[in-house]
Amino acid sequence: MHETGLSQAIVDAAVRRAAGRRVTGLRVRIGGHPVDPGVVTQGIQLAAAGTVAADAAVDLVLEPMTVACHDCGRRGPVDDHLAMVACPQCGGVDIEVTGTDDVVLESITVDVVEPPALVPAAASHDPGSADA
Ligand SMILES: [Zn+2]
Repeated sequence: MHETGLSQAIVDAAVRRAAGRRVTGLRVRIGGHPVDPGVVTQGIQLAAAGTVAADAAVDLVLEPMTVACHDCGRRGPVDDHLAMVACPQCGGVDIEVTGTDDVVLESITVDVVEPPALVPAAASHDPGSADA
């Protein structure tokens, strides 16, 4: 299934952009043909397992293509494959399909809290050892 490679590409891009920080959210824009959001979300979460994006919430933005009819002027989203062949309103075939048929990682949300490892370990004083 090509969705697997797609999900992997999304996660790879998010991990690169996070630069070692923990990813808490992924916003993914899906253009073109209708997809099942549940399948895409699951694929991304599977691909993110074991990475800094493992616990990220996946936010999908579905952006269907738009078809414009040159005959009647109708403009609307492509909600089925027939709409890409003929105008749903007048049946005209002089139509123009606009929009991108792609999947884009729109933005990521990262955990901005500094890792605790950066706090100097010698800062804590142990009073119990002074009487030894
Ligand atoms: Zn039309």
